[in-house]
Amino acid sequence: MAERKRILITGAAGFLGSHLCDRFIKEDYHVFAMDNLITGRLKNIEQYFPLENFEFYHHDVSKFIHIPGKLDYILHFASPASPIDYLKIPIQTLKVGSLGIHNCLGLAKAKNATLMIASTSEVYGDPEIHPQTEEYWGHVNPIGPRGVYDEAKRFQEAMTMAYHNYHKIDTRIVRIFNTYGPRMRLNDGRALPAFIGQALRGEDITVFGDGSQTRSFCYVDDLVEGIFRLLHSDYVKPVNLGNPDEISIKEFAEEIIELTGTDQKIVFKDLPINDPQQRQPDITLAKKLLDWEPKVSRSEGLKRTYDFFKSLTPEELNEKDHYNFDKYIVK
Ligand code: UDP
Repeated sequence: MAERKRILITGAAGFLGSHLCDRFIKEDYHVFAMDNLITGRLKNIEQYFPLENFEFYHHDVSKFIHIPGKLDYILHFASPASPIDYLKIPIQTLKVGSLGIHNCLGLAKAKNATLMIASTSEVYGDPEIHPQTEEYWGHVNPIGPRGVYDEAKRFQEAMTMAYHNYHKIDTRIVRIFNTYGPRMRLNDGRALPAFIGQALRGEDITVFGDGSQTRSFCYVDDLVEGIFRLLHSDYVKPVNLGNPDEISIKEFAEEIIELTGTDQKIVFKDLPINDPQQRQPDITLAKKLLDWEPKVSRSEGLKRTYDFFKSLTPEELNEKDHYNFDKYIVK
């Protein structure tokens, strides 16, 4: 029997991280799952704890990391990833994107592993070109509320390319556009869980600004497929992954109301500072390179996501504080 490939996934207990665990366990990899559990949830991955090819490391990747034995791949997906999160925990956001990637790259060098970083459409900021191609350098306010996230991710890309060029590390950069699916945190402030949570609790749907700003939402299974293909390609420059199907946030709120069959009202709130006006990935490169494009329509993806949220307990549905500092972090 061929030896199992060994992969470290940081941020493994988070939304994307846990879906990556699903995929690599399914592919029969040995998965080292690392998370400091500030925003990640053990519930997302606890089904794998009995497996011999799954190991959980409760650890902050901003501190020195050690994995025994050989390692083939590293996926650095640890990071707060919603505007509310990085407003509330800005220093952790900066550290995981800077100190965290430095540790991962050091490990990749020591183990001769291929490393992929989760970058983001936020590197494009409030874009002046539409849709966004990988060549676009972005329009980012470094000291705005999103700056801690955007600049951490931009630094992470720079650091990754520097290790690739200088140390010849094999690297991948995926620029992830808005992605949704089961296991998103209900209270992370993102539009989709916010709207579904409000509908399930019988509250008004809060649309920020006039709702004319656009986003393009990709179902998580499609994203994971793209990540899997990119990891196994040999392309080192950034690749956009996302669903180009663009919609205004107001229309999106209306879709959620229709989906949930509730008759919630939409109420309009102030638009957060530096909230991008439009966002749509140009995925020409991913199509050509990886023969990849999203397959799950928004109506199908939303249905699957709604089924997940409906299965939450009343306590989970009404949970307000979503950081696990006190429970898990030794101060
Ligand atoms: N948004 C909204 N109501 C909410 C939460 C978000 O109207 O309760 C808006 C937000 O201002 C943004 C869009 O929905 O324009 C998408 O927000 P999300 O946080 O999901 O993603 P991001 O802004 O990072 O793309």
